[in-house]
Amino acid sequence: MVIDVLDRGDLPFPGSLPEFQRMFPDEAACMAYLERARWSDGFICDHCGLLGEPYRFAKRPGVFRCRHCTRDTSLTAGTVMERTHTPLSVWFWAAYLVASQTPGMSAVQFQRQLGLSRYETAFQILHKLRAGMVRPDQDRIGGKPEDHVEVDEAYVGGRTRGKGRGVHDMVLVAGAVEVRQRKLAGSRNKRKSGRYAGRVRLALVPDRSARSLGGFIERTVAPGATIVTDDWSGYAKLGERGYGHIAIAQRGDMQVAETFLPIIHLVFSNLKTWLRGIHHGVSPQHLQAYLNEFTFRFNRRFYPFNAFRSLLGIAGDVTAPTYAELYAKKSLPTTSSRSGS
Ligand SMILES: [Zn+2]
Repeated sequence: MVIDVLDRGDLPFPGSLPEFQRMFPDEAACMAYLERARWSDGFICDHCGLLGEPYRFAKRPGVFRCRHCTRDTSLTAGTVMERTHTPLSVWFWAAYLVASQTPGMSAVQFQRQLGLSRYETAFQILHKLRAGMVRPDQDRIGGKPEDHVEVDEAYVGGRTRGKGRGVHDMVLVAGAVEVRQRKLAGSRNKRKSGRYAGRVRLALVPDRSARSLGGFIERTVAPGATIVTDDWSGYAKLGERGYGHIAIAQRGDMQVAETFLPIIHLVFSNLKTWLRGIHHGVSPQHLQAYLNEFTFRFNRRFYPFNAFRSLLGIAGDVTAPTYAELYAKKSLPTTSSRSGS
């Protein structure tokens, strides 16, 4: 069981498939969970805003009637499941599959996993859940003084039919990633470096000019942050844009960048592997949506509960708990753990 950073101890998240099945055995269990997620302190009427136990109807379990104004509030209002004819248990199962990551799952595979008779239903559910992932995370990263941000760019994706077409089929992606420092004393971490990736931002850029790369940085990185890049001229004027800037002299040696920009290289490497695994490849016009999906999962990788809840449109969202939050919580007694993946 993963502990919720929002301290919603009443809303645990399953850490494994058997746990998921025990937690959500039927429609009633999903409804009870959704009700707790939406109204942690008890039902509040959508219309008059009064708090109080509503009228409930055995034949319409997803509808609550306010005792004050007598109007109805739907349990699924404002969530991705609003007005659905598909059982909530199917939605929960679908969001669990998407949140716990099956890369590039097709609607056909999805239909089979969910045991749905209609392909269209599987397609619609997948489409709605993915829409939550391809909406870009908006706030700028790197706001904390103790973190720095690595920025680099790479050619990715592209269909590779035939030979010798080189970068013509590829598109240029700029990436920025927060680099955080582990602070916990006596941490038994296997990774040698004390650094790890925080949040990431990825965007298509038209070229490697200072205008394109500087524009990307201004849109994605908080002003005043310290940015580490290689010594490409496109990054030369970051100081004038209000950033601290450390340029690593690369002089054509790839090894230098690997050593001094390790985290963003790891991000690009993971991204390329994931894109290669997607059926049929990714065409350039859809690539930004895929970059956003990658970003969604990456920024919530320690914390599948947030991904699950965000996909279903239930309650607030936290993109990335800090390492300290995460591991402080993890030291509480738990039955199992799946974070750090
Ligand atoms: Zn009311």
